[in-house]
Amino acid sequence: MALVHECLERWYRRPETGITFGLQRIQYFIDQSYPNRTWDDDQLRDWHLATAMMRGYANCYPEEDFQVVALEKVFDGRIINPATGMSSRSFTMSGKVDGIVRMGDEYYLLEHKTASLIDSSYLERLWTDFQITLYAWYVRETLGIPVVGIIYNMLSKAKLQQGKGETEAEFEARRAELLAKSKTGKTTAKRKLPESDEDFQERLAAKYAEPGGSQTQMFHRETLYISRDRYTVLQTELWELTQAFPEARRRGYFYQNTAFCFRFRSPCAYYPICSSDNNPNVIDNLYQVAAPHRGIEQHGC
Ligand code: SF4
Repeated sequence: MALVHECLERWYRRPETGITFGLQRIQYFIDQSYPNRTWDDDQLRDWHLATAMMRGYANCYPEEDFQVVALEKVFDGRIINPATGMSSRSFTMSGKVDGIVRMGDEYYLLEHKTASLIDSSYLERLWTDFQITLYAWYVRETLGIPVVGIIYNMLSKAKLQQGKGETEAEFEARRAELLAKSKTGKTTAKRKLPESDEDFQERLAAKYAEPGGSQTQMFHRETLYISRDRYTVLQTELWELTQAFPEARRRGYFYQNTAFCFRFRSPCAYYPICSSDNNPNVIDNLYQVAAPHRGIEQHGC
């Protein structure tokens, strides 16, 4: 949820005027982001989730044990062959980290993640997060900040749905069914009304206030320390990628890395293309051509 990332950035940029005012400003931002929520069900659902998530977050973390050093920090750096120390003439590395924080004398990347479920298998796979570990390396090398690890700041998406209530016809059908079963020929059934926004927010707030457990926690922080060896392994892999990419492009074939199709439980953005074997209708209907992300840039060879 990109909007929650923006909310978190605003939350950590808030002036020293306290939690209530900070939360009011975020609520205003959320309200402005979903202007059609009174008639658009998708917008209303997302508004509810973002609102409840940020209110719950503020309650969960009213104070932090770290100081924010930088937010949405951009870096650019060379890609180096760790075996020779030579840098690539074709590629450089660029990226942006959610945050850099200091705890005591140590620096960490702060990485926000929203997930459907935070459980042990999700946490176990964090160390495979190739990109963020590389980013930590580049923050060290290009910004001179000695990052020792990553604080994963995880927010879970509540699965609750707002009660829709019954239409008149649905109620009449249910009532007729109950009457048919009733021995007295009477029923006290009442039409189920839609759940109000206030009631739904209350239910969501209760969900986000639940105490943490391994399967139910809505907010979780996990700190991963990065060893020198890990940095070396990832640098080597990045270098190998820079070598494999031109060759794949020359041959016009990029192999499918299917182990990553459902990484962290959400399908890869290109899953419809791969699973349809490059069906042109799928491509035309679901995708549009856009400029590449700046994460890795190629210069003229
Ligand atoms: S869906 Fe396609 S592009 Fe995405 S990870 Fe799977 S194989 Fe790779």
